[in-house]
Amino acid sequence: MSALAHEIRRLITLEGPISIERYMAIALGHPRHGYYMTRDPLGASGDFTTAPEISQMFGELIGLWAAQCWLDLGAPSPVRLIEYGPGRGTMLADALRAAKAAPGFLEALRVELVETSPVLKAAQMLALGGCGVPVTWQARIETGADDTPMIVIGNEFLDALPIRQYMRQNGCWHERLVGLAGDRLTIGLAPEPETAIAQAAPDGAVVEVAIEGQRFVADLATHLKASGGVALFLDYGHTRSGFGDTLQAMQKHAFVDPLTTPGEADLTAHVDFEALAKAARGAGLMVHGPMEQGAFLQALGLEARADQLLRHARTPEQQDAIRSAERRLTDMHRTGMGSLFKVIAFAAPGQPIPPGFGG
Ligand code: SAH
Repeated sequence: MSALAHEIRRLITLEGPISIERYMAIALGHPRHGYYMTRDPLGASGDFTTAPEISQMFGELIGLWAAQCWLDLGAPSPVRLIEYGPGRGTMLADALRAAKAAPGFLEALRVELVETSPVLKAAQMLALGGCGVPVTWQARIETGADDTPMIVIGNEFLDALPIRQYMRQNGCWHERLVGLAGDRLTIGLAPEPETAIAQAAPDGAVVEVAIEGQRFVADLATHLKASGGVALFLDYGHTRSGFGDTLQAMQKHAFVDPLTTPGEADLTAHVDFEALAKAARGAGLMVHGPMEQGAFLQALGLEARADQLLRHARTPEQQDAIRSAERRLTDMHRTGMGSLFKVIAFAAPGQPIPPGFGG
């Protein structure tokens, strides 16, 4: 049993069953044993691989996207470039290299990284050491008061925000809670029904509520409206709200039971893009997308960038790697990155449609 499983068992013995939201927050963020506190989870030797780690093309296109947004904002100087959950800093390093193509952009930039993980922060410092742009870090997810226009990016960040789950039983919704069955962690239902959830569904249906995600978007909205700017998030999830349990744990590139190794496995939930879009519109933002990642990257010029890299590839292995990365990022099979991953942008009212969204 993991060290954190012991702690969670103790907590439940003392306080009773805990919400999935609290369980996720502890499993990922516990100061000593939380998943993101103790390791670099990315890449072949870790637990999962993300788009920027698959190919430099991903970060480069995001960099060009950001530079175009900056031009569309009227090339303000200074401008904040805020990245949530930057991982190893790979996407940003690739983005900044590509964004040199826009004269004046890097000179105007103040980069701010929001990262809870000390291990990944160290990796980001290394990756961005020579980037020539001022970079600062903060650990909390609030965007912070500042009237400087901002461009916000986040890849696979929203899926790490804790969710709540409710299950339909005898015609009522009950919150799903993590409790104990002997020594084992197990999921049960709160005895009291949650009457705030109004949807009709058959018994056994599960609905997820991303309060943290919606709060995050509402906070972002306040700052985007006050200072101007746009935000882009890429993540796996669904364009329409629906029913189903999407809580998943990943360890060494395989799915594992979310309850067996808290703190040792990545814990995520699919992003409900419809709910986030609704929260953003409700807070007064313009919403673009969600659209599928494959189509978005194609619209930003993935193929042309791949062709350019192919012309410079020295070996057949390099050529294969470029083509296979392009295929992987845009794979339109149901479970492929190109369609499972969606892209959404939020903008302050009056801003032009961001690149890639059909403007
Ligand atoms: N964007 C990177 C990493 C994705 S993994 C990539 O695509 O490779 C998720 C990232 O979000 C990690 O950097 C993790 O440490 C960070 N993270 C998770 N929860 C967070 C929170 N509540 N606040 C800030 N960062 C968080």
